[in-house]
Amino acid sequence: MNFHVLTLFPEMIEQGLQTSITGRAMKNNTISLQTVNIRDYSENKHNQVDDYPYGGGAGMVMAPGPVYRAYKAVEEGIFARDDNSKDKKLRVIYLTPQGRVFNQAIAEELSKEEDLVFLCGHYEGIDERVLEMIVTDYVSIGDYVLTGGELPAMVMIDAIARLVPGVLNNDASAEFETFHDNLLEYPQYTRPETFMDKSVPKVLLSGHHGNVAKWRRQQSLIRTANIRPDLLEKAKLTKEDIKFLEEYNKSKK
Ligand code: SAM
Repeated sequence: MNFHVLTLFPEMIEQGLQTSITGRAMKNNTISLQTVNIRDYSENKHNQVDDYPYGGGAGMVMAPGPVYRAYKAVEEGIFARDDNSKDKKLRVIYLTPQGRVFNQAIAEELSKEEDLVFLCGHYEGIDERVLEMIVTDYVSIGDYVLTGGELPAMVMIDAIARLVPGVLNNDASAEFETFHDNLLEYPQYTRPETFMDKSVPKVLLSGHHGNVAKWRRQQSLIRTANIRPDLLEKAKLTKEDIKFLEEYNKSKK
């Protein structure tokens, strides 16, 4: 999978993603990262990329020209690499607090693409006309306002990259974790068996895979019911799960 990021701060994206698991995946060529500095596409003699908003008001707005030219350079590179990609609609994601809120389902959907282009805004945002021309998806990482789209792009790339086969050492680990099936993950334990008088639940030491799986499922259900009851409404629950939750809820009263 190839990530392309249009930004005014390429070093921020590179430094953030070139470490740990995403860094290793880049070294193995399981994923690639291209950062494009929008400022390099300014035709202004001072390399200016922003200007005052029409109609007045606070702050500056990123001008359409540099963003459009930076995008076209990325698109040309992708089409030159792979002639078939010309037939595909390239997904161009504008990070914005006005977008649909990012979640695991969106990460799973986007992880199936071969190329993803991320557009990071700054200041008061980007001239609307260029957004209308190039953007396919408007995505927010939550209901708060950040200074730029770089951190949101990194959040999205990290969440998407770890779903790409080969990025995690054990692909199964992405399959059973929090949000998969709309349930929070069960608690995890490692050695030592007893830590400051607190012991690991006995069932996990039993070696009985069936009992371990049942306990983990029940812990997931309990956690989700207590912390994120909204998720339970979307989760695929078995009859046994429903019965367990009914009994759990009665026991709490
Ligand atoms: N004036 C814009 C508005 O009210 O919608 C906010 C601009 S914000 C200060 C600057 C840039 O940060 C945005 O263009 C966007 O790229 C990014 N950004 C800020 N908050 C974000 C969020 N919650 N999710 C994704 N991107 C965000």
